[in-house]
Amino acid sequence: MDDRQFRNAMGKFATGVNVIVTEIEGEVYGMTANAFMSVSLDPKLIVISIGNNAKMLERIRKSGTFSVNVLSCEQQEESMRFAGQKEFEEKFEFDRLADAPVIKNALCQLSCDVYNEHTEGDHVLFIGKVNDLVLEDGDPLIFNCGKYRRLETLT
Ligand code: FAD
Repeated sequence: MDDRQFRNAMGKFATGVNVIVTEIEGEVYGMTANAFMSVSLDPKLIVISIGNNAKMLERIRKSGTFSVNVLSCEQQEESMRFAGQKEFEEKFEFDRLADAPVIKNALCQLSCDVYNEHTEGDHVLFIGKVNDLVLEDGDPLIFNCGKYRRLETLT
């Protein structure tokens, strides 16, 4: 099995799109990620998966905190910006939640402390303990087979 075939297989699984945000000594960094899952209700834990080559890996290790921001279907530009898919002239303005930087107008903002980490192959799984959250109404941005999409209601 080659890498392309494995990636194509994983791309069949439709996901939402998040931006992971962390802060080190006043500098804020974002990264687009769709590897995200709820883990536990008591305590409230989630998991994200960060590739070995991503700068976000050492940034989260250093900061010990991160936020997860579930993007709405109006936020494809945010996804492209924080995946390095498109360059933007203007500075990005972050909001704050429980003193953590977050993405304005995300459908869900979760502020987390690193609870544990596990290296698995060429990725690191960070378990985050959720300290605070904010929800907004709206439809999610969807990622499937390498493309951004919107939800459609089936009757
Ligand atoms: P950088 O390259 O430093 O940052 C990424 C981009 O964000 C750069 O273009 C940078 O200019 C911009 N940026 C960062 N901070 C700021 C700021 N404060 N203001 C303005 N712009 C800023 N990778 C994974 O490891 N795990 C995943 O689950 C995952 N899921 C993905 C899902 C989708 C839909 C896509 C498109 C990509 C996904 N990626 C994932 C890939 C990942 O988003 C990219 O490899 C990313 O470029 C890695 O960023 P970095 O941490 O190396 O940081």
